[in-house]
Order: sequence, then C-alpha cells, then structure tokens
Amino acid sequence: MSKVRKCPKCGRIRMGRSCYDQTEGGLLIPVWRAHAEVEGVSEPIVFRLVSTWDKDFVAAIRAHYTKSRGAPYGKKLAWEILESTRHRGWLGLGEPSFKLAARRRLGLEDARPLPATVCNFIYRLDAPGKVLASKILKLWHPIAANDWLKRYGWIPRHWETLVDPAEIDSDVPVACFRRAWYRSLGLTTGRSARRPPGATHAARIWSDASPKLVLYRGPLERQAALK
Ligand SMILES: [Zn+2]
Repeated sequence: MSKVRKCPKCGRIRMGRSCYDQTEGGLLIPVWRAHAEVEGVSEPIVFRLVSTWDKDFVAAIRAHYTKSRGAPYGKKLAWEILESTRHRGWLGLGEPSFKLAARRRLGLEDARPLPATVCNFIYRLDAPGKVLASKILKLWHPIAANDWLKRYGWIPRHWETLVDPAEIDSDVPVACFRRAWYRSLGLTTGRSARRPPGATHAARIWSDASPKLVLYRGPLERQAALK
C-alpha cells in the first residue's frame, strides 16, 4: 500500500471516499457510514455469523434455486444479513468445487482450485430492503475474509460462485456479482460431482445438472481464450 491516510473525521484509515478498520491479519474492512456512526447512527447492514446448522439458514438453502439439501461438506461459514436490525437474507462461504474446467480461463494448468480458494455457495435475499444486492456483496467480502481468517487461519484470495443463468427467478442475478467485481469464466459442463448426503467419505456421484456460470473474484487475470 502506498500512503496510509487517516480520516480527519473518524480517525480510521481513509482510502478514496471510504473509511476502513484494519484487522490483526492486515485486512481492511470498510466501515459503512463511518461518520454517521460517529454521530450515533447505527449501521444499516450487519453480517451476523450463524451456525451452518442454523435451521433458518438450512431452510434458506433448501428454498434456494440450487435446491441443495444443506450446506456443503468441509470448511464453511454462514451469515445472516441484517438491514437496520431486520432480517434481509443469507450468505454462505465454503470450499471450492473439486474440478472446474472454466478455471483454465485464468491461465491455470489444472482445473483444480488454487490454495486459498473459497466458494460462495449461497447468496439469498428473502426479505425486502433498501440496500442494493451488489452493495451488500461488496460490504460482505472483507467481513467474510476476516471471519474466515479467524476460524481457519488463512485469508481467502480467490472467490468463486456458480450461478444458474437459466434461473430467472433468482433474487440475486449475475449482474449483481459483476458489480461486486466478479468476472465470468464461462459455463460448467453441466455435470456435477457430489457425495451422497451424510456420506463424508463416500465416492462422489456424477450427475447431470444444468450448466452453471462460473464467476471469479480475485487477483488473477482472465485469459483471452481457453488454452
Ligand atoms: Zn472517516
């Protein structure tokens, strides 16, 4: 980072038009309406870490267009999104898919994920609110990175999400991810591998699924064409 400026109003780190708190891990977390906070106004968007077994979260996953039975296996975190202390929706972060050919679009030799890759497996807004979906997503990333660091000891660097482009009922369309700096890597083959429910060590079962759009947010540049 070049020059660290301090905000004259709130004393936080100032970059551009936003003020940031810095964590022990060195992450910068934008403070929503930092100056309103100084003036005693509470933050409209809060991400509350919840258990991935939380029954309302599990219900949200089942109701989501991906029709999953629950959170994926492995490392994962879940958040309830609150707007002005009222429920607005859910976010979930977990381990990335095993192999995705679309990753080659980033110049990777292998279709497997790089270290420090995570996957947003659910972003659902199921209650009305005023803050834009893309704005919520932008606010969530540093919070999620910090919570992940605290839980698992490393900072996510490559962020992926798989969106079904045929799902027109989605409350969080692809455009929202693009506005939050996700780039499209192309479609999956329409085949997916997952372990049977409850069988953590069983072999993955391949099944046909509708192709998903793979979206990526991170430091790697998208290559012009597939290798
Ligand atoms: Zn400030």
